[in-house]
Amino acid sequence: MSSTHDHVDVLIIGAGLSGIGAAAHLTRELPRTSYVVLEARAASGGTWDLFRYPGVRSDSDMFTMGYRFRPWLHEEVLGSGERILEYLRDTARAYDVESHIRYRHRVVRASWDGDTALWTIEADRDGETVTCTAGFLWSCRGYYDYERGHEPEFPGRDEFRGPVVHPQHWPADLDWTDRDVVVIGSGATAVTVVPAMASDAKHVTMLQRSPTYVLSLARRDPFATRVRRWFPAAVAHWLVRWKSIVVQSAFYRLSRSRPGVVKRLVRKQNVALLPDGYDVDTHFSPRYQPWDQRMCFVPDADLFRAVRRGDVEVVTAGIERFDADGIVLSDGRHLHADLIVTATGLRLSPFGGIELVVDGRVVDPAEEMTYRALMLSGVPNFVFTVGYTNASWTLKVDLVAEFTCRLLAHMSARGYRSVTPMRDPTVRERPLMDFTSGYVVRALDQLPHQGDREPWRLRQSYIRDRRTIRRADLEDGVLSFT
Ligand SMILES: Cc1cc2nc3c(=O)[nH]c(=O)nc-3n(C[C@H](O)[C@H](O)[C@H](O)COP(=O)(O)OP(=O)(O)OC[C@H]3O[C@@H](n4cnc5c(N)ncnc54)[C@H](O)[C@@H]3O)c2cc1C
Repeated sequence: MSSTHDHVDVLIIGAGLSGIGAAAHLTRELPRTSYVVLEARAASGGTWDLFRYPGVRSDSDMFTMGYRFRPWLHEEVLGSGERILEYLRDTARAYDVESHIRYRHRVVRASWDGDTALWTIEADRDGETVTCTAGFLWSCRGYYDYERGHEPEFPGRDEFRGPVVHPQHWPADLDWTDRDVVVIGSGATAVTVVPAMASDAKHVTMLQRSPTYVLSLARRDPFATRVRRWFPAAVAHWLVRWKSIVVQSAFYRLSRSRPGVVKRLVRKQNVALLPDGYDVDTHFSPRYQPWDQRMCFVPDADLFRAVRRGDVEVVTAGIERFDADGIVLSDGRHLHADLIVTATGLRLSPFGGIELVVDGRVVDPAEEMTYRALMLSGVPNFVFTVGYTNASWTLKVDLVAEFTCRLLAHMSARGYRSVTPMRDPTVRERPLMDFTSGYVVRALDQLPHQGDREPWRLRQSYIRDRRTIRRADLEDGVLSFT
């Protein structure tokens, strides 16, 4: 894409896991479709290139976090950031996605013209605006703000003498050897970074306002190892992936239908892994039900082992203020720190401030309803990819891509130029996500709604969505084709 006008059939925004997946699906399923991927940064991989904190890894199993069409061949169940990035870039090369990516192109605006049935996309390239047109727009820009993570205001922050680091912007030269480190947070990032820093730091404190469910998973899956030995690669991939899908889905459903059982199960494991007499109820028993918020998984109990060794202490308390030497807690205690890590989360930004305009009307996503959690009411020829929150992101990436390719093939076969989900006023609005995690609650007013029935309702279940997204009739009376 240059500053002169270019045209493609499909324009994909973002070269992260979703964008590379989308492009690979297009290559596999609709090889004659022309496409380009506009990527704001100078590198591909999105999340897995941006996050560089110690120990960065997935907390989903890689058999489902990998694409359906490309097996994860490593032994480790939870993939390291480095290996995930390598896997994504290998996929991009294998499907010739790499040559379609235009780096340092930040999409700022996309306007739809119903007369020509075209999107005009404006992107910022090093301060210069470049434009191109596309028949179809596919947003794979992720779900959070890349510039800034979520950092609450801590009184006295400027008084603290040491560095305060947010994991989203980890300085490459940060040294924590023999330092007292306090990590504020209790989510996936905190439980990853704490044991990873513990081996070099003098001491690490994980300071949390309230606890999270933390469950240990085996680093290697013996089932996967055996199946790979016995079956050809494609069959092994299918078996291992489906075993993960079924186990994951059954665990989630059990958590929602019998939360008491899951609470007891997690607690039992925590008690067995922590030192005798440890106050599990204060530090590892949340007040909410399992999967009201994302559950945390740690490989081979690394967090619990670090607590057992005495390298890590978990403190559950509020923060009164920072002072020169650390943090004063609301119960009056003082935590000494040479370095503070604010693992306080992300700022959700589902459409990333990209201005969407349809025939002169600026679209406010919060006013719209999502069709199968992949299109927006009233917005033609537009698909967005946002993955699952209660399962691997990628399961949804593959489904959205399969749906989009099916939709594009259908339009091409019937000679349609545009498709728009038309809102039905009898369908009632529901929040898009029923998670109570801070980052979701903070952004609810920016998110579109889902509806109370199909096809406006998001199931958050791969097994059910797979059936509807893959097979549902596209001429369903909701999608309007012209
Ligand atoms: C630390 C961390 C760990 C995670 N672990 C897991 C996990 O274990 N399992 C799981 O399922 N999910 C996990 N997630 C969620 C994770 O983000 C997804 O799994 C997945 O990587 C998201 O991929 P994506 O391509 O949709 O978005 P991203 O990875 O965010 O990629 C989006 C891309 O779009 C680009 N972009 C954004 N805006 C624009 C624009 N305007 N113009 C052009 N380009 C743009 C960005 O630069 C980026 O490259 C994790 C997230 C984080 C932050």
